[in-house]
Amino acid sequence: MVISAPKSIAIFGGTFDPIHRGHLNSVKLLEAKLNFDAIHWVLSARPPHKDQTSASIVERFEMMQLALADFANQVADDTEIKRHAESYTVDTVETFKARFSQAKLTVIIGGDSLLSLPKWHRYPELVEMVNWVVMNRPGYELDLVDELQQRLVAEAADLSTYKGGKIWVFEDSQFDVSSTALRAELQAFAEDPKISPKLSKEFLPEAVFTYIQQRHLYKIAAIESGPTISRTTISQTNMKPEQIKDQVVDALEDVKGVDIRVIDIADISDFADYMLVVSGTSDTHVKALARSASDKLRSQGVIPLNEDGADVGEWVLVDFGDVVLHVMRPEVREYYDLEKLWDEDVRALMKKHREEQESS
Ligand code: ATP
Repeated sequence: MVISAPKSIAIFGGTFDPIHRGHLNSVKLLEAKLNFDAIHWVLSARPPHKDQTSASIVERFEMMQLALADFANQVADDTEIKRHAESYTVDTVETFKARFSQAKLTVIIGGDSLLSLPKWHRYPELVEMVNWVVMNRPGYELDLVDELQQRLVAEAADLSTYKGGKIWVFEDSQFDVSSTALRAELQAFAEDPKISPKLSKEFLPEAVFTYIQQRHLYKIAAIESGPTISRTTISQTNMKPEQIKDQVVDALEDVKGVDIRVIDIADISDFADYMLVVSGTSDTHVKALARSASDKLRSQGVIPLNEDGADVGEWVLVDFGDVVLHVMRPEVREYYDLEKLWDEDVRALMKKHREEQESS
């Protein structure tokens, strides 16, 4: 069987925090007008224009995979996750051009994104590299600057005569929903289960809604308020640090964590009571260990303040507030030698230092 290379590929990027039917239905309607062999949903892992996201990279990507699972030509694309740098569209387009050298590329964006397009990284080059399809959104008046205005074409079919630099606005994508509105509703629902999460029920695919509930996502305000959140308010239970620590150890043992070390730092640290270090034998094992701890604690109402590094799997930090877990590949653990930092000598010195500070 000969598999022919795709001829027409669309790139649809976003933070997808979470993915919703505003995205999905708009793309579906668009496909009736423009024929793409594949649409790559590229997760903007580290968006330059947003300070923080609420769900982690891994969670946002898993929600994308769930939402796209039933559609053969919709690809959950990890190009920007793997790049480990800020998620610039121009870099992604360059990657796609190298990867699909024969294909015609189109970038899909929403109306709000079009307004800021001239400010995107390396805009003058980027805008010429591909054609652009804009899904208009309710509430966004497309009052365009001349630079963009002169690039508009009237019909979708007009795009095919240009290699790049042209913009077509698709007016039928009128779904009045945003991830921000969904996060706000999900947070309110978490605080008061008696309210009906109407918007979420309407605009989240069922599998995504279930995932959010199972993982207790969006229970707290978006991390925008990060440093001001008290480290103890995140817990939805009355679990004590020691119990959290025990549960984490159990979760690590469940998936065969190697060389689990529990370090009591309550007397010398302002930020946590326990630090745990464990090794995983491979990237997959490291991720599985972090996931096991995170899932176990989430199911008991302890929501991590931060989960970092799970996209790579070399060193994952899961911050439960009073308990901080480091899951590391053995070579990374050896190199950074976190445990040494907490040697008895260092502890004594730190304690003395703190006492001196308190008495001064
Ligand atoms: P937020 O509220 O967090 O900004 P968002 O859904 O607007 O969320 P993204 O997930 O980054 O943001 O959106 C990805 C892309 O989809 C963007 O180009 C955005 O403009 C577009 N988009 C988002 N919602 C809609 C919608 N309801 N209709 C059409 N396009 C949309």
